Amino acid sequence: MEMKIAVIGGDGIGPEIVAEARKVLTAVCQKYGHSITYTELLMGGCSIDRYGVPLTQETIEAAKANDAVLMGSIGGDAKTSPWYQLPPEKRPEAGLLGIRKALGLYANLRPAYLFKELADSCPLSAKEGGRNFDLIIVRELTGGLYFGERWTKEIDGVLTAQDTLKYNENEIRRVARTAFEIAGKRRKKVTSVDKANVLDTSRLWRKVVHEVAAEYPDIGENDMLVDNCAMQLVKDPEQFDVILTENMFGDILSDEASMITGSIGMLSSASLNESSFGLYEPSHGSAPDIAGLGIANPVATILSAAMMLRYSFGLGAEADAIERAVKDTLAAGFRSADLMPKDPEKAKGLTKVNCAGMGDEIAGRIQ
Ligand code: NAD
Repeated sequence: MEMKIAVIGGDGIGPEIVAEARKVLTAVCQKYGHSITYTELLMGGCSIDRYGVPLTQETIEAAKANDAVLMGSIGGDAKTSPWYQLPPEKRPEAGLLGIRKALGLYANLRPAYLFKELADSCPLSAKEGGRNFDLIIVRELTGGLYFGERWTKEIDGVLTAQDTLKYNENEIRRVARTAFEIAGKRRKKVTSVDKANVLDTSRLWRKVVHEVAAEYPDIGENDMLVDNCAMQLVKDPEQFDVILTENMFGDILSDEASMITGSIGMLSSASLNESSFGLYEPSHGSAPDIAGLGIANPVATILSAAMMLRYSFGLGAEADAIERAVKDTLAAGFRSADLMPKDPEKAKGLTKVNCAGMGDEIAGRIQ
């Protein structure tokens, strides 16, 4: 197959980790007889430096002309970077919100999976038989509080701010269907998370999700309040298969889910629209504190590339090959710095490798 992929390296560790994902994709192409044409695009801080804005119309058009987008991460240190002296709509993160909207990427998929080899990194208390969870969060990405009207103004001498949380039934229905479709290929259970005891948008969310659930009689559905879900993720993550939720709740819960796997450097994500087009990126940020040191963990980006092959190109065997190579690399004892146990006893027999070393080990195990 010939694939056309737009690449956004971005800022901080972004270009380093994307380079390793490309290395692994090259190994997949050699093994399975595919070819890839890459188009490099600027977005985020590097686009501000070049064009004065975090996202240009040219970048949007070029992204659309490709089959998928593979991204590192954007943004800098909010305390020291000049990008954060700019008004909010000109900062790096505005580019990310802008490209999601422009490409219609309404469904964000974030798996949280505990690799057996990294079980010691899981901060949750041990459970009989060990921890063993495998869940995916489907987050609505182009509506809700982050896209509603907002303002800050002085009213009667008092500085006041307002954000608006709005959803319509169509926005809810399309992302709910995505969640049920995914559950159909997994363990057939959707947990819909809302705050229906307080919010009107959540009551509409729940009503529409129930209508969609009726279209999928073989898939179980339960509702959970967001505060309870935050607690249950820590207490008993094994109960979840697919968690379906709105934009802000998903933003927070997916970071929580990522941390219970032990390292944010392991977690991939996909943002999809109604066609097979998607933007694939790690769940973590641009890690400015370690940028340029060559010690970032590239696995989340490599696993995002696997999601890209599966969801945008229908290449399930090739995606499996990447996931297997990651597991085999961990099983062979290779660890990036963030995955090395602090306890020297537990570190015995493990080999610490840098970002490029981790990419080499994984690429070398593609079969
Ligand atoms: P972060 O995820 O970048 O970093 C949090 C911590 O995790 C840091 O200590 C970092 O070193 C570590 N870390 C993250 N990824 C790692 C990896 N692959 N390997 C090893 N360690 C890793 O979060 P932050 O510090 O809150 O944000 C930094 C910047 O990233 C901000 O500008 C933020 O807006 C941006 N950001 C971008 C995205 C995105 O592009 N989608 C997402 C989240 C944050």
